[in-house]
Amino acid sequence: MKKTAMITGSTSGIGLAIAKSFADRGYNLIFHGLEEEGATIAKEVATAAQVDYLHFTTDLRNADEVKAMAESCLGAFENIDVLVNNAGIQFVRPVEDMPLEKWNELFAVHVNAAFVLVKALLPAMKKKQMGRIINMASAHGLIASPYKSAYIAAKHALIGLTKAVATEGAPYRITSNAVCPGYVLTPLVEAQIPAQMQVHQLSKKEVIEQVFLKDHLIKDFVTPQAVAAAVLFLADSEAAPFITGTTLSIDAGWTAH
Ligand code: NAD
Repeated sequence: MKKTAMITGSTSGIGLAIAKSFADRGYNLIFHGLEEEGATIAKEVATAAQVDYLHFTTDLRNADEVKAMAESCLGAFENIDVLVNNAGIQFVRPVEDMPLEKWNELFAVHVNAAFVLVKALLPAMKKKQMGRIINMASAHGLIASPYKSAYIAAKHALIGLTKAVATEGAPYRITSNAVCPGYVLTPLVEAQIPAQMQVHQLSKKEVIEQVFLKDHLIKDFVTPQAVAAAVLFLADSEAAPFITGTTLSIDAGWTAH
């Protein structure tokens, strides 16, 4: 029987690369994301890999809708074997100018939605005695830098949730881990460039060199495909059943110094 992977934020950037890598592995897919072209993207990826799929455009800021999405997925596929909480947003502002609404929005998308999905999908995973929960944290889930307080706090919280779920999932052979990428050149990072230029008073080239890649020991952006490979490793490798409650950094050496 084919396995099923649900990946939030999978019609763009890192999530799309993750969806493609699971499709190549023969998983049925649950695509999700706000992109207008999402339905077309989902159809193309699933058709090319000859796997079944669903596509949702649920706004993760609405917990009731997130719960309803999980219930529809469980109705369509007997079990969701892999849940990747990947969707995310960024907001760059000094702490004193960070609006509370933005703080709440970042927590809703990164933390609350992940919690609601895990809560909804765990019972079926427990019944099957198998499950892989992979949360897309960030190097910013482990360390901080200026002007991203809401994002950094939310990613740290997501790693806390990752560990808590690992303790409860272990008796059922359910693993829970977080992936911590460095900078990946996706729409999320592209969108930060103007704000970074403004707060740091730098050109675009300088923002890339002096902000994004400053702390990468390897002076390149991490690729979405590399992050997808890390997720697949945690989901479906010989080592995967024995890795739980931890973080996997794929950050070009950022957090080594
Ligand atoms: P992206 O902008 O390309 O994709 C983000 C996805 O999340 C999109 O599909 C978008 O529609 C979805 N999304 C955002 N807000 C949503 C909402 N309210 N409801 C539903 N869906 C929503 O960004 P990305 O860089 O691919 O980011 C994916 C994940 O990787 C995020 O959690 C991000 O924090 C994390 N991450 C990214 C980087 C990086 O440098 N790009 C580094 C570390 C971690």
